[in-house]
Amino acid sequence: MKPTVAIIGWRGMVGSVLVERMIAERDFDHVQATFFSTSQAGGAAPDIGIDTGPVRDAQDVKALVDFDMIVSCQGGEYTKEMYPALRRAGFRGYWIDAASTLRMEDNAVIILDPVNRRVIDDAMSRGIRDYIGGNCTVSLMLMALHGLFSRGWVEWVSSMTYQAASGAGAKNMRELVTQMRAIGLAGSKQLDNPSSAVLELDRAVQRTLSSAELPQVEFGAPLAASLIPWIDRGVEDGQTREEWKGFSETNKILDQNPPIPIDGICTRVGSMRCHSQGFTIKLNSDVKIDEVEQALREANAWVRIVENTKEATLRELTPAAVSGTLTIPVGRIHKLKMGPTYLGAFTVGDQLLWGAAEPLRRMIRIVVER
Ligand code: NAP
Repeated sequence: MKPTVAIIGWRGMVGSVLVERMIAERDFDHVQATFFSTSQAGGAAPDIGIDTGPVRDAQDVKALVDFDMIVSCQGGEYTKEMYPALRRAGFRGYWIDAASTLRMEDNAVIILDPVNRRVIDDAMSRGIRDYIGGNCTVSLMLMALHGLFSRGWVEWVSSMTYQAASGAGAKNMRELVTQMRAIGLAGSKQLDNPSSAVLELDRAVQRTLSSAELPQVEFGAPLAASLIPWIDRGVEDGQTREEWKGFSETNKILDQNPPIPIDGICTRVGSMRCHSQGFTIKLNSDVKIDEVEQALREANAWVRIVENTKEATLRELTPAAVSGTLTIPVGRIHKLKMGPTYLGAFTVGDQLLWGAAEPLRRMIRIVVER
């Protein structure tokens, strides 16, 4: 008998990428899937090439309680309400979730198996049943830098991020492109006349950015032709919650004790679905660059070292080049002027793949193969 899997949140951004990836990797050959929704019960399930029956009600505890796995990409509110209700009702299966609600709970593991498969295996053998996908920026940083962490070379990391609109949700992606359209329309007269003064174009763009008409309900400020150095809510010590996750989730994923200091400033930029990060890495000794590159390269099958040249950087180390792929390029690798133990590096990753859906689908396979 194939293990049964309830899939909730498949209509959303993370869920639809998850289903797409599961089809591509033929994961549905190994499980018996049923699709659930909080709003579309009775409707048609997504076409995965197998009949999975009609969509069922994601708020029906009885319908869910006997599944071997429940995979939720529905969101934190759903988890907060349904997870305790299901466990109380006797759900003994694996809870695999994209939401942050349960991440830091003692009985939950943050899953990123190319990095922490040992932690996952250990937890499974101890009977732990809750496996939660990590914060997108954290997962992408660890996919990129795991080779340095695993060798114990890292004293601390500062990560300055350039995060995509998709991390804030589908509506935000639409708002970004709507802002881009408004800017393009406002400047079209000047653009059509290449001999017009560039300051006229600049003024047209600036007028649009300052206009109350520019749609900005989701972000609260213009993002196109601008950026927003604040993500999520404020927490203690001047950090945002997104920045706090960099420290707390990274150390939990690595099962690192004492924890490694990780901090920086998280910034939203106008890319669609790739997060980028510029790192200052304090190494605990003067490791040579070729050894650094070898360690990074050997850590997993998705990391690619990008030569520190303009040509290679423009070709391989941009959101435009990486979007829609599982590749984790790491480039701009060089020693910084602060001294031989200070390493600079830059990475880009598709935050809907390794940052969200991929660790979940791989966890389903880990359960199946166990
Ligand atoms: P989302 O796109 O807002 O989708 C969540 C749910 O909203 C859908 O599954 C669907 O549930 C419902 N929905 C209502 N109207 C819809 C419409 N017109 N189209 C599609 N769905 C609609 O959420 P998400 O960005 O995928 O995030 C899901 C969870 O993953 C969140 O907890 C988030 O924090 C976490 N996460 C997100 C990211 C990211 O990059 N976005 C990364 C890592 C983790 P019903 O079928 O039940 O109506």
